[in-house]
Amino acid sequence: MLQKFFDERKRMVEHQLRARGIYDARVLAAFETTPRHLFMPPALRKLAYEDHPHPIGFGQTISQPYIVAYMIQALELTGAERVLEVGTGSGYQTALLSALALEVHSIELIPALADRAEQTLTDLGVNNVFIHIGDGSQGWLESVPYDAIIVSAAAPHVPKSLLEQLSDHGRMILPIGVSEFQELELWRREGDAYLQEVLLPVTFVRLRGKEGYE
Ligand code: SAH
Repeated sequence: MLQKFFDERKRMVEHQLRARGIYDARVLAAFETTPRHLFMPPALRKLAYEDHPHPIGFGQTISQPYIVAYMIQALELTGAERVLEVGTGSGYQTALLSALALEVHSIELIPALADRAEQTLTDLGVNNVFIHIGDGSQGWLESVPYDAIIVSAAAPHVPKSLLEQLSDHGRMILPIGVSEFQELELWRREGDAYLQEVLLPVTFVRLRGKEGYE
């Protein structure tokens, strides 16, 4: 069984990531070593390395591997960063970030998802992740500023609080838009200026909360 997951994971990295233009060697290595199946409900684990998002309960999903890789690669992590993740969900993306950055703060609105993700990460021996329960549309003030911010749910417009919590030269990637019309946006802070780039059409669940969809 373990060998099967290992082989499937290698195939996922080759066919879904490298062949589609994911080139960052550190990102590819993190996907090769992170056991995505352990972040999925037991009944769905056999589908873990397929090219899709999957349900994780509470109406939420674990994102498609390619989209997770694309978003993380855009953050250009070197290993020295403090990262904020909004929408822990299964904790899969959190685990990848923990391998690529110094420290990860991850906020999840649904306590049961946060608890499960934290347990999975602890079982895997991850020790540079801090899971917080709350409304991440307003960021997480206690550990500002962040060198990188990644949001896993779509907001109607860019949350101002998140922009303010970026460090100078910090980067943020997030889906923006309503229902089926969403685009990934990459923001970069340069002093008091914010540079925006629109990257890719996507489909995410809604970001709830004060600066999301109430
Ligand atoms: N990256 C995750 C994707 C989870 S789906 C994974 O790979 O599993 C998006 C998550 O965002 C859901 O768990 C949802 O509960 C959470 N979410 C939605 N609005 C939120 C908010 N305002 N603050 C924190 N989490 C939120």
